[in-house]
Amino acid sequence: MELIIGSHVSYKASDQLLGSVKEALSYGANTFMFYTGAPQNTMRGSIDIRLRDEAFSLMKDNGIDINKVIVHAPYIVNLANIQNYDFSVSFLRKEIERCNILGIKYMVLHPGSAVNSSREEALNNISDGLNLVLNNNCDVKILLETMAGKGNEVGKSFDELKTIIDNVKYKDKIGVCLDTCHLNDAGYDISDFDNVLEEFDNKIGIKYIGCVHINDSKNILGSHKDRHENIGLGTIGFDNLINVIYNEKLKSIPKILETPYVTKNDSSKEREYPPYKNEIEMIKNKVFDNDLIKRVRGN
Ligand code: FE
Ligand code: FE
Ligand code: ZN
Repeated sequence: MELIIGSHVSYKASDQLLGSVKEALSYGANTFMFYTGAPQNTMRGSIDIRLRDEAFSLMKDNGIDINKVIVHAPYIVNLANIQNYDFSVSFLRKEIERCNILGIKYMVLHPGSAVNSSREEALNNISDGLNLVLNNNCDVKILLETMAGKGNEVGKSFDELKTIIDNVKYKDKIGVCLDTCHLNDAGYDISDFDNVLEEFDNKIGIKYIGCVHINDSKNILGSHKDRHENIGLGTIGFDNLINVIYNEKLKSIPKILETPYVTKNDSSKEREYPPYKNEIEMIKNKVFDNDLIKRVRGN
């Protein structure tokens, strides 16, 4: 089976999913992840069916399997917080409808942050909320992301994710998205990934993994910081990330880059460029090429 690799791409009001597919193809990707609007807010426009169908045929022509494409829910949805709970639940229900229209099968969700409650209450609120959102006719699986444990973030350990999943009624509608930067920052040593995966398998089960976010980290193991770094330039390192990407047990799982844009001086103007084309090339070659990122940065 071919490696399924892509990155975060934009989804703009003007060309919607069609624009996202074009952006993914420009990076040499065969999958992608997007927010159905701005990641930091919950304003969402209606879906243009004509653009969707054009996107579908472009995907078909280029071997992108819609079943491996990922939507990411906005950060501000917080099922852990009992204030705004109704809003979070109704937003997620609408987001699932949007996924259904767009043909998307997986939605990544940050479990939440324990703002006005204990971690135990937060975990309970999350599974209760998921039980209000998920049902038998829902055609989308929600993937809880492993978090760095910044501030009051919940989902920083496999035990916490297990507690949530144990209390979710529809087990076939729930899964996990591993994020290598977050795992590192939460204290899971990616240089011994087989061991991390074994612990995950013992506690939750590998079959729950639906997506892997591939990011290097600016910070050391257990720092609880959550600052992504470009592949091979952080504390995890290129070879360790390659081990994750090509792990036999995760073969059929889409790998998504969320590494930072790089700043380049373009005729004395600072511009930001996505690193994804270069990073995907390095990943496909399994060879770290510092020059690729340097070339983007222009130094
Ligand atoms: Fe995320
Ligand atoms: Fe992530
Ligand atoms: Zn992150």
